[in-house]
Parts: sequence; C-alpha cells; structure tokens
Amino acid sequence: MAQKAHSVPCAFLRPPSTGQPLPEAQLPVTKTTTVTAPDLGVFTARLLDEIVLRTEKMITRSRQSEMLREWTAALGYHFPLTRLLAPRNPVVLMYHGIPRQSEGSAVNADSFERHICFLKKNFALVSVDDLGGRERIGSRVRVMLTFDDGFRKHAEVAAPILRRHSVPACFFISSRHAYPRKYLWFTYLRMLEKHFKGNGFMFDGEFMDMSVPRQRLTIDRLTTLLVRLRPHPERMYQVIEEDLPRPEDFVSSSDLIDRYAGMTAEQIEELSTNPLFSIGVHTLDHPFLTKCDRAEANRQIVENKTWLENVIRRPCGAIAYPLADYDSEILKLCRSVGFCRGYSVNRSIDYDPELERPRLGIYYPSLNALGFKVRWGNLLREFGQYMNLRSLFTVLRGDLKQGLRDLPQTGHR
Ligand SMILES: [Zn+2]
Repeated sequence: MAQKAHSVPCAFLRPPSTGQPLPEAQLPVTKTTTVTAPDLGVFTARLLDEIVLRTEKMITRSRQSEMLREWTAALGYHFPLTRLLAPRNPVVLMYHGIPRQSEGSAVNADSFERHICFLKKNFALVSVDDLGGRERIGSRVRVMLTFDDGFRKHAEVAAPILRRHSVPACFFISSRHAYPRKYLWFTYLRMLEKHFKGNGFMFDGEFMDMSVPRQRLTIDRLTTLLVRLRPHPERMYQVIEEDLPRPEDFVSSSDLIDRYAGMTAEQIEELSTNPLFSIGVHTLDHPFLTKCDRAEANRQIVENKTWLENVIRRPCGAIAYPLADYDSEILKLCRSVGFCRGYSVNRSIDYDPELERPRLGIYYPSLNALGFKVRWGNLLREFGQYMNLRSLFTVLRGDLKQGLRDLPQTGHR
C-alpha cells in the first residue's frame, strides 16, 4: 500500500489561521481543592496538557499572538548563541502570492523586498544547483527561494525585485491558470471569500450562506464538498465553472488579472531566459495528488512537465507537490519520468530524500520571524514530527493505550 506524506503543524511554522477553531482540550483542568497524593501525577499532566493547548491557541489565534510571536522570534534569532547553536543545513523557503499592495498581514511587495535585503545580508542566497549540504560553523547558511503556483504577480511583482537584487529563485507553475478565465480551485474559493457580496447561493440542494458571520464556515463547507467530488479534480472544476457563481460577476477585472490570474506562457518563457531563475512542475490543475486515480496523477504531472518544457524549451527536472500531498507511488512515478529534485513541506516518507526536500512557508512580513524560521524552522519541524507533544501528554496523563494508539498516526513516518 502506498505510504502517504503526513505533516504535523507547529504553531510557529503554521500559516495564518484559516478561522477554523482549534481542537478544544479533551480533558479540562479539574477544579479540585484537595489533591490526593496518587492523583498528583495525573493532575500535573492534565495541567501541562491544558497549558500547552491554551498557549497554542493563544499563539495562533489571539491579537497578543503577533506580539508573542515577534518576541519569541526575536529571541530565537538574535540570542547571541543562536548563530553557533542553530543547524547549518541549507534551507528552502516557500513563498506564495506577493501582491503589490498589502492584503491583511501577508507579505507584499515592500515587505518582500525587505525580506530579500535581510536574507542577502545575513545568509547566502543560492540557486537550486548550489544548495549543497551542511555548512561549516562561521560560514553563512545557504537559503534558496521558491515560489509556488505560478501567479502572474510572481512575474510582475516578485521577479523584478529578485532581478534588482540579483537573487536566484525557482518558480513552480501549474499550467491551468496560464489560460484566460481559468483559475485554480483554491483561488476561486479565495475570490468567493474576499469579493462575493450576495447573501449566498444554492449548491447541490444546499444554501451556501455568505452572510458575514457565516461566510468563513460556508467556504470551509464548500471546500469539503468540492474536494470530495470524484473524479478528482475534473468534477470539482466542472462544478466550479458550471454550477457556482462566475468570478467575472463578482470580482473586478483588474483584481482578476493582478491577484488571481496565472502567468501567461510568454511570461513563463521570459522568466526562464534569465539565468537567475528556474522553472519547476506543480501539476496541471493543482489537485490533491493522492485523491486522483493513478492515471490522473500521472497525467497531472507528466502533461504539466511537457507543457512547461515546450514553453521554456529545456528539461524540467524539479517538482513541488501541490498542497504537499503525495505518497510513495507518486515519488516512484516522479523518479521514473526524470525528476531529480522534489520539494515538499515536511520530509515525511523517507522513500527518496532527493524527492522530498522540506521547505518552510513564509507568510509574515516580520524579519525576526523570517530569521527565526531560517535558523530554527527545519529543526523545530523535525522535532514536531518525531515528538508529538499531544501523544506524549496523553501517555503522561496515564492513558497509555490511547497514547500508543495515537503515536503511529501522528508521529514521523
Ligand atoms: Zn501550490
């Protein structure tokens, strides 16, 4: 049976909250005034469990979280010994869209340029061919930049900044949205969330309530319904294009181009002619590869590769798995069709380390958070994968059976 990649999120590595509630503590702190000696261990474990869960909730959801994250990141980055103690392995960073103007607390053109100056000053920015291995103490840690999805703003906003500072980067591109009026499925959901102004619409006999208080939940519900459709992703796109509100009816034409369209073939070709930049595969339609049947997964990868190679007129040897969703069969397929490098988020299967290079997503403008991530991100992620804290506390609080049952599902595989 194919082994599937699995990620265990860490509060500092996680993208901004999607608005979904985090799991509540299963065992709230018991308010007792008398604690007898035999119960003390259980009580302490429950208390620790509660503290961990509530701290995580505070870090990821509350307003104070930004301040706390900033302080922790600053401490982790600037503490005098961090340069000596932090791992010296190369780091691959993953950016998504870089809008011209600010969109909430996301990285925009200005903050991205500050990122580039900061990275150039403190680390060695390298191309895919110069990533190499572990550095000696005293030399700069190597950092490679990658951009996923192939949005037009990568060519029009990010690439000019990279060129200005002579910084190499790799762009992983889904070809679907290189064509007019074609959008990736999650881009469509983002458009609905940001721009749809009506009360709602009917879908599959169900009213999709888009009133402000319900909107986030409705988008989550619609996402679940769409991803469930089979065959994936063909039926999902069919429904989006035939049964749901058309983007042209609720998004301005300038936003459609600037924020949601993909790079055109001409823009991809132009990027590829610059020796600083390389182009990689990100599938045709950005599906969950493990939800596709094998023939479709094959088509998504191979046809995207062929399309890109025709555009850039040279071989494409790197792939980034959409949504970091892959399994050992996908890795075998990638190896068989000639990929020599694969980029994920976590290295989860260990089937083929060259095809499972971990990356760190960058979502915040903060330079401290960026520096902290480059120094400690991979180590924290590995730690999170090997040591699932919740399972540990489950064991600590005495439910050994449940803890052991959880560990193989949530730990490193
Ligand atoms: Zn992607």
